[in-house]
Amino acid sequence: MNQTASDLPQNHQPSERYDLVIDGQARATSEYQVVRNPFDLTAVGEVAVASVADVELAVTAADAAFRSWSSLADSHRSDCCRKIANTLEEHAEELAMLVTLEQGKPLDGAGLGSRFELGGCAAWAMATADLHLSPKVLIENDELLVRQMNVPLGVVAAITPWNWPLLIAIWHILPAIRAGNTVVIKPSPYTPLATARAVLFMQEVLPPGVVNLVSGDGNVGSALSSHPKVKKISFTGSTPTGQKVMSAASSTLKRLTLELGGNDAAIVLPETDLSAFLEPIFNGAFINSGQTCGAIKRLYVPRELFHSACVELAEFASKQLVGDGRKAETRLGPVQNEPQFNKVRALLKNAIDEGATIFSGGKRVGDGYGFEPTIVGVPANSIALVQKEQFGPLLPVIPYDSVEQAIGFANDSEYGLCASVWGDNPEQLDQVANCLEAGTVYYNTHAELHPMVPFSGHKSSGLGVQFGEEGLAEFTDTRVQYQRLASPAGH
Ligand code: NDP
Repeated sequence: MNQTASDLPQNHQPSERYDLVIDGQARATSEYQVVRNPFDLTAVGEVAVASVADVELAVTAADAAFRSWSSLADSHRSDCCRKIANTLEEHAEELAMLVTLEQGKPLDGAGLGSRFELGGCAAWAMATADLHLSPKVLIENDELLVRQMNVPLGVVAAITPWNWPLLIAIWHILPAIRAGNTVVIKPSPYTPLATARAVLFMQEVLPPGVVNLVSGDGNVGSALSSHPKVKKISFTGSTPTGQKVMSAASSTLKRLTLELGGNDAAIVLPETDLSAFLEPIFNGAFINSGQTCGAIKRLYVPRELFHSACVELAEFASKQLVGDGRKAETRLGPVQNEPQFNKVRALLKNAIDEGATIFSGGKRVGDGYGFEPTIVGVPANSIALVQKEQFGPLLPVIPYDSVEQAIGFANDSEYGLCASVWGDNPEQLDQVANCLEAGTVYYNTHAELHPMVPFSGHKSSGLGVQFGEEGLAEFTDTRVQYQRLASPAGH
């Protein structure tokens, strides 16, 4: 069924302006930047470009708010996180539409569109409200009591990317404030609108200065990540930018959580009936059109299954409609921005020059950055499409001759975010899973996350842990208290 323009939700005006949020107030600036829908390049809103002076104001407001926010009862901060979850649920349709307009992903798509993103935002906010870092008694006897507790850090700078803009913002903001910190967030200039709106909604339930937003270009990110009053940087993005953030943080020893790139391998074990796994493998690779750090980026299959795997995946891929994210029939959205679109096309061209075969896709869709889901049969593990993080709708399928070779291929990467193994034999699944160098290893699934399950990258995929109590503790320092209860004999 085709939708007409009049069927589409009309509650958003492209001329809308999204201001900074500093000290509880929306703040206009002298410069605004146009944000475009990556599917058709139409303007969908304008966002304020912050100056370095605005960054200073935001950090000062966050620093001033820290004193009272950190001394509130823990239950009060938990209640505020719960209220934020309710606010996100209440405004979910408006925010989902904004994510679709600026990021391009479908509202529903393959069940993993912007409505799913908003569901995740509310779920993560609610789960974070329920987390506790309880003080521990380490030693208790007649003479000595030693207790350990977690104390908040101060101002946290959250720097977020364009692939899951609001969900990742929630992953950064909620544990930071739950633990007693205050936040200055800088969204990606490609996708700032939903975050700007959500941060404005948060002001209804938070004291001024607890969460501030400064949108803008790379100058804003570097001003934030080098600011002496910022005590922690929570960053999601590319490994090279993560490295810059890490060196900016070093002068004042800021705490860091870096969630960087991934080049996740999936291995199909010998004698596996692929038909049962076709759809989950496809979804694991093409979630958000491949623009997901923890998506399958390379698929290893036994040589005898190579041709049928490529053909069957191609058949499935060719049925997935790439289109306008607002239309009900759209399954996959576009690549989010021009540099990424050019990177995806260049990697595909290079693969073809190196002898790869396109089994499906390979073409632009529409006037913007739409690109068909593309299955590429690749003769060698060494080509750039396999070795680099393509972060787009391309899946290289690579044949292997032995399970040992497949494990070697999978681990031959600077990245170590996630990996998966697919098959029916539980022992073999365990054997292979135990050899894979990754923070998360999946059996017969991929790209699943849960707010109570720690998520971390090995090797160049990151530093630190997100989610669960371990993730919350990353927004604190450890403090121990020694209490001498009685003088030991002889003192
Ligand atoms: P970047 O890593 O370049 O940018 C991520 C964020 O960091 C943006 O908000 C960016 O702002 C900001 N930033 C840039 N320079 C600095 C700096 N010196 N200090 C502080 N912040 C800074 O990602 P891109 O958006 O350019 O994407 C490039 C590649 O990153 C992709 O091809 C993909 O491989 C990977 N990526 C990984 C993601 C993940 O989830 N792990 C998510 C998105 C991308 P600004 O744009 O204004 O410079």
